[in-house]
Amino acid sequence: MYILGYDVGGTKISAVIGDNNGKIIDTLRKRTSKEYGKEALSNQLIVMGEELIKRNNINKVDKIGIIFAGPVNSEKGIIISSPNIIGLKNYNIVNGLKEYFNVPVYLENDASAATLAEKVFGMAKNFENFVYITLSTGIGGGIFINNKLYKGSHGMAGELGHMVIMPNGPLCGCGRRGCFEAIAGGRGITGRVVENISAIRNSTVFSKMRPGDIDAKAIFDAKRNGDMFAQLIVEETIYYLAVGIVNIINILDPEAIIIGGGISNEGDALFDPLKLAIKEEMKSMKRNVKILKAMENGSDLGAIAVTFGEKYRN
Ligand SMILES: [Zn+2]
Repeated sequence: MYILGYDVGGTKISAVIGDNNGKIIDTLRKRTSKEYGKEALSNQLIVMGEELIKRNNINKVDKIGIIFAGPVNSEKGIIISSPNIIGLKNYNIVNGLKEYFNVPVYLENDASAATLAEKVFGMAKNFENFVYITLSTGIGGGIFINNKLYKGSHGMAGELGHMVIMPNGPLCGCGRRGCFEAIAGGRGITGRVVENISAIRNSTVFSKMRPGDIDAKAIFDAKRNGDMFAQLIVEETIYYLAVGIVNIINILDPEAIIIGGGISNEGDALFDPLKLAIKEEMKSMKRNVKILKAMENGSDLGAIAVTFGEKYRN
């Protein structure tokens, strides 16, 4: 069985061909044009799919999954709004592909797709109750309750990044202050560095960098190289991450928290102290919750996993 998957993101569009065991056979990437509009985007997806089918000598794909970076209505196959590509509001992206390839087509947003990927192919195979957290520029995620992806009554559940952990803290893109992602997401971490001009001046690493080049990875690297200011920021970040994650644990009591996204690639440098901090932050509400790193190729498998979504919906 062959599955064609698309990941329509703000900077690139990926197309993948995989099988139902989660083996990726081939991938193709193109830069996203902000100006696509509805038809050009659908045509682009068809062209990319055809190219993958042709160059891998595949007779027929059996189903298609699409990930879209923005709010979608999965049941109807509709893009609700599009933060990155203009002109896609209320667009049914599923119909055109369904007609062209004559197979079932499924649509999910990126956070739900990543959560499904962990359930279908990744670290969450054996968990019925878990939370997936993506730690990158922002913080997002998905929630599994009793073996179902929990979408909420407006399809908006899992906005973990917009839980306030510091009232009157830094302003978040959502309009509130002190959101989890405004403090512990990549942009939030960077913000805490660049706002401290005197600490930057005294830092051997950051004083030589342009402010635009300081990102979460640079901060973890600087800590590894012994920079005291970076160490402070990383320790602070781990504390805030633990606060947010323990909030989630206290509400949902999951079996596991699975962490993906760019910052999770810091590996043990992140996970070892984070596990300790979470244990500490649980205080008198201690319980055994596994803290796991997401699988490596989750982003490519997301679009494949979307086609298994039916099984995990209410
Ligand atoms: Zn927010």
